[in-house]
Amino acid sequence: MPVTPAYTPEPRFFDLGDEYADAVRPADFPTTILRYRNDRAAASVGLEGLDEAEWIAAFGRFQPLPGQPGPIAMRYHGHQFRHYNPGLGDGRGFLAGQVRDDRGRLLDLGTKGSGTTPWSRGGDGRLTLKGGMREVLAATMLESLGVPTSRALSLIETGEALERGDEPSPTRSAVLVRLQHSHVRFGTFQRAAYHQRADMIEALVEHVRALYHPDVAAGDTPGLLAAIVEASARLTARWIAAGFVHGVLNTDNLNVTGESFDYGPWRFLPAYEPGFTAAYFDQTGLYAFARQPEAVFWNLTQLAGCLKLVADVEPLTEALNGFGPAYIRHLRAAFLMRLGVQSLGEAADQRLVDTTLALLREGGAALRWEPLFFDWFAGFSSSARALGGPRATLYQGETFDAFRFALFEHEPDLPERLEHPMFAQSEPEEMLIDEVEALWAPVATDDDWSPFQAKLARLEQAREAWGFEG
Ligand code: AMP
Ligand code: MG
Repeated sequence: MPVTPAYTPEPRFFDLGDEYADAVRPADFPTTILRYRNDRAAASVGLEGLDEAEWIAAFGRFQPLPGQPGPIAMRYHGHQFRHYNPGLGDGRGFLAGQVRDDRGRLLDLGTKGSGTTPWSRGGDGRLTLKGGMREVLAATMLESLGVPTSRALSLIETGEALERGDEPSPTRSAVLVRLQHSHVRFGTFQRAAYHQRADMIEALVEHVRALYHPDVAAGDTPGLLAAIVEASARLTARWIAAGFVHGVLNTDNLNVTGESFDYGPWRFLPAYEPGFTAAYFDQTGLYAFARQPEAVFWNLTQLAGCLKLVADVEPLTEALNGFGPAYIRHLRAAFLMRLGVQSLGEAADQRLVDTTLALLREGGAALRWEPLFFDWFAGFSSSARALGGPRATLYQGETFDAFRFALFEHEPDLPERLEHPMFAQSEPEEMLIDEVEALWAPVATDDDWSPFQAKLARLEQAREAWGFEG
């Protein structure tokens, strides 16, 4: 396998021993057709040199990459919509390997749709092609908007016919591989706590601390919780600023590094709507747009509860209570980032958040989420562009004046970014549901992948134009 010298296998999940996962075998798919490969992500871990046959062998047939011991399905539990489920675990995915990236981070090669495991619970272990395409689109869009996210590395169509209640069936199948900064979930801790295994919690705490939060001192369990709280607050703030609704914020879908992953029924907000819900099965709106901070906090309380087996309650509670202030701090930073302006101190930064939200609220459906940030990127440097653009008529009145005043107080941050050709266009890249369906339709009817590929190329341009750091 022609990996480059940058390829650094480091299968550290095995350090935990054999009580955290089960060795599994990948499905033997009837066909393997490469539909998407993320060469930039591959290059970050030294895998860009694989030719197509080698790529398919690694990410469609799952012949282990050098230095990787072979697939394991992780064990975990979780609260799904607040109901505890001890029957979870990797039911259609596995850990195919772990590698260091070019920033020194330990990343998992995680699969989705790679076959059944001991945790499939009667499910088929498969992923629909449309579901795979949706995960690629979500991850790519989120990365361009500066959200800490898993990246889709590979999508391979696998030639099976699947039955699904939420897609016209039979529907096509695929296997996805993502690069993710840890698949250790809150639910991984919940499983150990459920079995009253303080020793397992202790091992997990040390594993996560040493590999993902090395600034925390060994043995400082509340310190580790504080680091996870901080990372989760930052992630949540970035979702909000991106107008993103994850859709399924169960404890098995949140991990210890605050990097978002597992994109199923996600949506991006068309326009300001706090109650906007992504998943059709979320009837009560538990995971609606504006309830995401509350959902993440609730999940963190479950994690803290598990840590009670190995640490005192008081410092854990204190760490947990850091969520609110951290979220507000990160929300200010996320809005500054999205609007491309520098901080001017807490009060002025908060005014900018408040007036931006007020303008979006007042603008209703006419003022879409993404265009507002696009139009006003880098503050007053964009004034002529915004006021001469397609939404000029929305930019007037008292609420707008308050927004403009708050925005123009702030210095532009790297306004030379406006020279990127993206800002000469009148519309930004969005990812609303109609467009997602419109990208899927030509694949379904004519096997035409060109609109999907063109969209990904434009998102890559957008990522470069914004210049955000995840
Ligand atoms: P998710 O909502 O995608 O995070 O999945 C929740 C749980 O259901 C996880 O344990 C998954 O592995 C499992 N699961 C979801 N879809 C399937 C499937 N088609 N076959 C087997 N297990 C599945
Ligand atoms: Mg999941």
